[in-house]
Amino acid sequence: MPTADPAAAASRSSASSPSLSPREAEAWCAAVVDGQPLDRAQAEALGGALHEAPIRARMAEAARAIKVARTGSRVTVSRNIFIPLTNLCRNRCSYCTFAKQPDSAEAHTYTIDEVEEAVRGGVATGCVEALMCLGDKPEIAYKSYREELTARGLQTTTDLILDACRITCEKGMLPHTNAGILTKEEMARLRPWNASMGLMLETTSTRLRQKGMPHFHAPDKEPATRIKMHEEAGELRIPFTSGMLLGIGENDAERVDTLWTIKDLAHRYGHIQEAIIQPFHPKPGTKMRAASPLDDDRVIGWVALARLLLPREVHVQAPPNLGADMLPRLLDAGVDDWGGVSPVTVDFINPEAPWPALRALREDTEQAGFELFERGPVYPDWILERPEMFDPNIRALLPKYANDEGYAQRNDQSEEAA
Ligand code: SF4
Repeated sequence: MPTADPAAAASRSSASSPSLSPREAEAWCAAVVDGQPLDRAQAEALGGALHEAPIRARMAEAARAIKVARTGSRVTVSRNIFIPLTNLCRNRCSYCTFAKQPDSAEAHTYTIDEVEEAVRGGVATGCVEALMCLGDKPEIAYKSYREELTARGLQTTTDLILDACRITCEKGMLPHTNAGILTKEEMARLRPWNASMGLMLETTSTRLRQKGMPHFHAPDKEPATRIKMHEEAGELRIPFTSGMLLGIGENDAERVDTLWTIKDLAHRYGHIQEAIIQPFHPKPGTKMRAASPLDDDRVIGWVALARLLLPREVHVQAPPNLGADMLPRLLDAGVDDWGGVSPVTVDFINPEAPWPALRALREDTEQAGFELFERGPVYPDWILERPEMFDPNIRALLPKYANDEGYAQRNDQSEEAA
């Protein structure tokens, strides 16, 4: 488990940052709104000072202005289903309850019939996106899983994902796969059957891979490996989701470095469609069950810094079930997307945090002065303006699920389901 409490580490890091006056922060933020990017030193100074309310307020104000300039009052959400194709994983992150051991009664690998059944449930409730989310390459760690794949006529987890994505397309939904680390060849195989794919960068901190830290037993959490996959997804022109995990033991400088790395990847390859800013929530039964999560103020500050730092074409997303008490504040700090919210399936990664009903989320969004629009796995601007990002197979399917503005097509039944 981490040797330091994450919140305490954040405080120490903040306390040691050079002082920044609200007037200086305001000038920098105003320059960003006018199109002048932050430099690294400015980003680090803001990251080190965002625990101070006057600084944070100026950052949030500018981040909101950038969001409004880009997408107006519109905020998006993807009505989706979550298909945890397998909850076996070769890693053991200290905060995870998703991954199970093969001998656990809760260990499960979906059959294609089960995938088809889940997709039927999604179609019936007006969902467009099927999120394939699963553990990293369990075949490397578990003989019994390898035998199970063989018995099904499959060699690798990627074969399983491919079958699941094919049946999903056939039965009326668009897949988005997040399977942990994939090779370039594996992503190339999956691209014709995925509207988009993703991998949270999470953190660029190599310190968290050290003994006693949360990623010590998680070789796939090596930052260089995750950056490489982002680069290869860019080379393959895959609309890609990245993001930062907040509060697992990283410090302020490491958070800035993570955002800076996502920004750099987005600039170099132009394929990052969204960045999720996701606060860690401690879970019972894990090594990090007693760790303190980041307080809401700091989460708001990091969301605002993400919006200030990232290219404007990168949407900034916050999961509404992990910030249920601060939805208006998240919107006022530059969030323009709530991510996937399911009327059918739970958040298997954070099962303790129920999804809001879409109707309630719409009301909360409107009360904060914004409007909620549904999207599919790909953002409207990407559907309309980035056709080169899609394999012809998926490109041919997109019009079935998008209206003229690129938002998700819906039917009357889906309103009832919300
Ligand atoms: S890689 Fe993901 S699924 Fe695997 S242990 Fe870590 S957090 Fe859990």
